[in-house]
Amino acid sequence: MKVYENISLKPYNTFGIDVKARRLVVVEPGDDLVTLTLSHSETLILGGGSNMVFTKDYEGTVITLSNTFHLSPLTSHLVTVWGGMEMDDLIQWTLDHGLYGLENLSAIPGTVGASAVQNVGAYGAEAKDFIESVEVYDLMERRQCTFCNADCQFAYRDSLFKHHPGRYLILRVTYRLSKKFVPNLSYKALEGLPHATAQQLREAITEVRWSKLPRPEEHGSAGSFFKNPVVDESTYLCLKAEYPDMPDAHRSDNGYKLSAGWLIDKAGWKGRTQGRAGVWPKNALVLYNADGCSGDEVRALAAAIQQDVKQKFGVALDPEAIII
Ligand SMILES: Cc1cc2nc3c(=O)[nH]c(=O)nc-3n(C[C@H](O)[C@H](O)[C@H](O)COP(=O)(O)OP(=O)(O)OC[C@H]3O[C@@H](n4cnc5c(N)ncnc54)[C@H](O)[C@@H]3O)c2cc1C
Repeated sequence: MKVYENISLKPYNTFGIDVKARRLVVVEPGDDLVTLTLSHSETLILGGGSNMVFTKDYEGTVITLSNTFHLSPLTSHLVTVWGGMEMDDLIQWTLDHGLYGLENLSAIPGTVGASAVQNVGAYGAEAKDFIESVEVYDLMERRQCTFCNADCQFAYRDSLFKHHPGRYLILRVTYRLSKKFVPNLSYKALEGLPHATAQQLREAITEVRWSKLPRPEEHGSAGSFFKNPVVDESTYLCLKAEYPDMPDAHRSDNGYKLSAGWLIDKAGWKGRTQGRAGVWPKNALVLYNADGCSGDEVRALAAAIQQDVKQKFGVALDPEAIII
């Protein structure tokens, strides 16, 4: 375990926001964790910081896992992976070893541990579809335990872990993969790839993704800043009647999922900047660091968009990004 005092978190968040942590603890595989304890107001678990917006210095302890490449195949289908490992490195490893399923999640920034917290999803796939179990260190009970998939309460960008911030440090995730490649082409942009190999599908997805997102080396961001809002049937039908060009909603158990990006674009925010934060010109769902912005500037831009969308369409937007 490595401990740093008063350290800048700029390299630890993809928005590139320069705040400091009073203490940063980096946990390595095999470390003895009993010295880690929970204090709700003072402990933050950080992965790659790709879904975080820091608005001020963090006065407590930030705990993160080393990004060591560390995994162990259990059976021919199950592989257990260190939580600090880059998700995208895992996906390349699985394809190199003839294990399939995760390819549609290619190029999502962040760690294996966070993939379970966030139930990351893209191109018709979600992490929950492949997670067998999650091994955590419970900072409150000071013991290690394992959650099976059903215990994790996975939902859209949600899980049990998200509701107990700072309590469960995810050490390892076990994925159940397939030896047979069955392409998931449910997403419209992938329809033209019925004969692609898994590697070709991964490359096509990576290319499409980065054509619509800011390159991290040029502009910081947290990817999609807002969740797609879910509304009831009458709200959806009224909006569709007023705006026939609105994309058809995806029907789910709890209602109709609208495109947040379309609402933000229609409200006129695409490509606009406010202070040093902006709305990405190729994707209205993405807020970005236009020129060394602060977390407060991102928060102010997000609040202005939320207020405007609410006023114009009567729809509330909830941030997907975590504002600290
Ligand atoms: C350019 C870009 C594109 C993106 N595209 C997508 C996308 O297509 N789909 C998608 O779902 N997301 C997307 N995201 C969001 C982001 O990649 C995911 O949310 C990712 O899972 C965050 O991983 P992270 O390691 O950076 O976690 P962080 O941002 O550091 O943390 C996210 C949450 O997980 C918790 N956490 C992290 N690690 C652990 C751990 N080991 N134990 C317990 N809790 C932990 C944190 O406390 C926090 O609550 C995108 C982000 C960017 C910047």
